[in-house]
Amino acid sequence: MSTKPQPLPGVLELIPYVGGESKAEGNQRIIKLSSNEGALGPSPSVGAALEKIAGEMHRYPDGGSTELREAIGQRWGLDPARIVCGAGSDELITLLVRAYCAPGDNIVYSQHGFLMYAINATAAGAASIAVPEKNLTADIDAILAAVNGRTRLVFLANPNNPTGSVVDSETVARLAAGLPPHVILVLDAAYAEYVSGNEYSAGAELVDRHPNVVMLRTFSKIFGLGGVRLGWAYCPGDIADVLNRVRSPFNVSLAAQAAGVAALADRAHMDAQKRNNDEMLPWFAGEVEKLGLKPWPSVGNFLLVDFHDAGKAESARLALKADGILVRQMGGYGLGTCLRVTIGVREEMEAVVASLSAWAKQQGKG
Ligand SMILES: *Cc1c(COP(=O)(O)O)cnc(C)c1O
Repeated sequence: MSTKPQPLPGVLELIPYVGGESKAEGNQRIIKLSSNEGALGPSPSVGAALEKIAGEMHRYPDGGSTELREAIGQRWGLDPARIVCGAGSDELITLLVRAYCAPGDNIVYSQHGFLMYAINATAAGAASIAVPEKNLTADIDAILAAVNGRTRLVFLANPNNPTGSVVDSETVARLAAGLPPHVILVLDAAYAEYVSGNEYSAGAELVDRHPNVVMLRTFSKIFGLGGVRLGWAYCPGDIADVLNRVRSPFNVSLAAQAAGVAALADRAHMDAQKRNNDEMLPWFAGEVEKLGLKPWPSVGNFLLVDFHDAGKAESARLALKADGILVRQMGGYGLGTCLRVTIGVREEMEAVVASLSAWAKQQGKG
């Protein structure tokens, strides 16, 4: 008999998710490029919308996020009845695992996929199967081969964070078609709005075609609203119904709903975020290459920079930090020779390149 309260097996072995750093001692100005937050911040219309509801904060929000779901549906041509909003897409990941996974079940995800999938599975007493990647890209055939009778969910971040790699829509369609009907495919499209070109799809058409495919989206990246916590799932009707049963009744705050509606209305701001990324991502990748480092190809608002050596990556991270520039350590993802750098505005990226160049010069001397 245990003498104290015990959580589910596995919970005490969990390593809590560590977010991007936000402080660097001794620096007046911080350039925070550690969490893939939209470079331009939120639309100014979000501030105006929040001011407008400031006097209403004593009221509970609309538990169904009705206006927001309608705005999302209109924006992307989706059925609002099959959209479920959450406190970030993180909450929707948690709800999917909670609703569909029991102890002894498993989830399948790609080796360098987003860490929250495995963390949620462990919290539910379920196992996680990490499927090896090819060239830091999800291997769809290997994922299909890893699925077994106890698999309940397959998670595919597309584009993937932190690698920046993407799987084309035909291949994702093959994954959806190849899964047994008891398995839900979760397409986590947190960076969908940054992707150009028509070989990519966030997956809404697969949700419409299959009873077991869900697409997740977030307001935390291109919409610059990570601080309000807002994400959404587009689901088959039965899965939307399940999520609406397990979520808490007021899971999306009044502020988050108002901010989301205002952000969606400001098309120009989203376009400006994309333009900044389209300009700065290739520029930064080119500069990284000039320094003799490897930029992994990325379609998101971040770049995985490979230093080919874990000690060098850490020494560069500390040099950047000493200059007030925060980037993301990748050891937790099994990519210890790399750093992930969020794409900021030009001035910020120039500061990163200047800091990295100084570091590289120092290395050359040593
Ligand atoms: C940032 C991110 C999310 C989640 O963001 P929320 O802030 O919880 O909406 C989900 N998946 C991936 C791959 C991400 O990078």
